[in-house]
This record gives sequence, C-alpha cells and structure tokens, in this order.
Amino acid sequence: MNRQITLAARPTGLPKESDFRLVESAIPIPGPGEVLVRTLYLSVDPYMRGRMNDAKSYAAPVAIGEVMVGGTVGRVEQSNDPNFRAGDIVAGNTGWQDYATPKGKDLRRLDPSLAPVTTALGVLGHIGLTAYFGLIDICHPQAGETVVVSGGAGAVGSAVGQIAKFLGCRVVGIAGTDAKVEYLVSELGLDAAFNYKTTADYGAKVKELCPNGVDVYFDNVGGPITDAVLFNINVHARVSVCGQISQYNAEKPETGPRLLGLLIVYRAKLEGFLITDYAPRFAEGLRQLGAWFGQGKLKHAETIEEGLENAPRAFIGMLLGKNLGKQLVKVSAL
Ligand code: NAP
Repeated sequence: MNRQITLAARPTGLPKESDFRLVESAIPIPGPGEVLVRTLYLSVDPYMRGRMNDAKSYAAPVAIGEVMVGGTVGRVEQSNDPNFRAGDIVAGNTGWQDYATPKGKDLRRLDPSLAPVTTALGVLGHIGLTAYFGLIDICHPQAGETVVVSGGAGAVGSAVGQIAKFLGCRVVGIAGTDAKVEYLVSELGLDAAFNYKTTADYGAKVKELCPNGVDVYFDNVGGPITDAVLFNINVHARVSVCGQISQYNAEKPETGPRLLGLLIVYRAKLEGFLITDYAPRFAEGLRQLGAWFGQGKLKHAETIEEGLENAPRAFIGMLLGKNLGKQLVKVSAL
C-alpha cells in the first residue's frame, strides 16, 4: 500500500496533528516517462505552513484531501525513463507519501559516495542554496564586516553563519535555546550568539555583541528580533529577507515599530528573495557548497524523526524550534 499524509483541515495558528490525515491507497503505476520512487526521507519546511492556508501567494495552497507537498529523497523502484534505473537514489518533490510517480525530468540523481543522501534536502540542496545566494548575492558580505543571522541554528541559518565566516566576517547568531547558542559558537565557530528566549532586551544584546554595528542581516524570522537588529544597522547595511517564521502562525498581521525610515537614514538595502528564482544558477551554488562540504569546512546538523506517520509531529516540532539544523523524516530504509 501507499501511505500518504494529506491535509485534513486548514489550521488556525499553530497546526495540530489533527490537521493532517494518514490515508492508504494502491501503489501507483508509472506512466510513460515516469519513475516509481519509494521515499527514503522527506523534508519538513516552514514554507509548508503557508501552503496549508487557503490563500495563494507564490504557490497554490494544498487542497483539503491533497497529499502534503515537499522535497524527498527516494529510491527508484521502476523506471519508464531511460535516464533512470531501479536502485538509483534521487531527489525530487514527491510529497509526504511512501511512493510517487514523478516524471524523470523532475528528479535529480544523487551519488551516495559523495555525501550522505540526506544532504540533498539540506546543506547540499535548496537549504544550502538559500543560504548561499541569499547571503552572497543579496548582501555581498565583505571580510571584516559584521553579519547577524536570525534562526541561526536552523537549517538555512546554520549554513549562513558558516558561509559568512568563510568570507572573513564577524558573525553573530540568534537562536532559541542555550544548546543552540553553544552549538553556533563551539561547533560552527561563530563569534557570538544569544538565546532570544532568555534575553529581555534584544536591541541591547545586539548592540553589545556587535560593537561596530551590523553591516549585513540575514533575516529568517522577522518580528521583534528583526526590529532589534534594524535599530543597530550601519550606513549601507544590506538585509536579506529570507523568511518571517515568527509570523507564519499569526492570525492577524502584527503591528510593530515602523522602521523603513531607518533605511533612508542609513542608506540601507532590504531585499526579499525566493530561492526558486535562482534555479539557473543552482549548479554554480551546488559546486561551491559541495567544495566546502568536501573539504570538511561546511558542517551540517540534522534532526530526524522516524516514520511517515510522524511527519506532522516533526513539522509542528520544527515550527516550535525543536530541531537543530535540518528537520527530516525517515520514511523507509534503503
Ligand atoms: P529552520 O530554521 O531549520 O526551522 C525553523 C526555526 O525557526 C526553528 O527551529 C526555530 O528555531 C525558529 N523559530 C520558530 N518560531 C520562531 C519565532 N517566533 N521567532 C524566532 N525564531 C523562530 O527552518 P529553515 O528551513 O532553515 O527555514 C528558515 C527560514 O528560511 C524560514 O523562515 C523559511 O520560511 C525561510 N526560507 C526561505 C526560503 C526562500 O526562498 N526565501 C527558502 C528556504 C527557507 P529557534 O529555536 O531558534 O526558535
């Protein structure tokens, strides 16, 4: 049977496990040009929270009763595409289910001898690419500059902090537990980090840890953390607006300080981006990320939940900050 996790209800605020349903159907049969893929790992990501709403933004919402979308790594079981054969390990976008029949052209073959296959859903996939282009292409960090990254110990954030260090920057991370703060400084070599959940005055803390001000801010979270960083920017600062996870479960838009005037005073640039727009440059990004990874410089952490049936729990846990690095779900063994 093919077990699938579908969207059962549109959440209000933080999703609940009852917003999802486990259903079973027959294993699909691949048509012309299609490949039967058995899921090994699936990725749970913050953007999926937006897809659960009945509002189209850059992508259509998941319909009620539809399989949850998402990136996967799987094993080819049967192929009607001459470019793939049974046993190949592939990355694709086949969603929260045991089996799927994507077109071969929508799959990327992985070489398990080069890196653990899970990295295709993390540091050597869209996560690493988001960190790489969102930092380098949007912010152009220079050696000696101060870079602040929020969501610092998550999948994207932990890659951003390391890349900024490779470029010779002073890097300060912001994260939600003491263990994450310790990881950023001791394991990833950031210059400083703080736990926003135990810090009363974020602005004072950013000022203390960034005595020369903030030249580059990589924003994964938005909200009061971002307000505090913006109060500390330097002239010609660059801000990459990657994510606003503090707002994803909000039932009404938050009203905060209105800080756009700071961009005038500091002649600063603030730019949002979607990693999908960089598709023509993915090969370039993966080459550089792969080189850093191969040299043992680019580290990655993974938090892995076992079992497709536990994907909703893993997803909700990630929204609550239970993950260090990339949150994955192991669906089946090789
Ligand atoms: P992640 O950081 O691995 O996981 C989400 C993290 O968000 C949690 O671990 C939690 O860490 C933090 N968080 C949750 N609620 C928060 C709050 N209210 N305030 C501050 N932090 C909070 O996820 P990811 O996949 O790497 O994604 C990070 C961000 O990048 C997300 O906003 C996502 O939407 C965005 N993103 C954007 C693109 C793009 O194309 N623009 C692509 C990929 C991802 P703590 O313990 O630190 O709270």
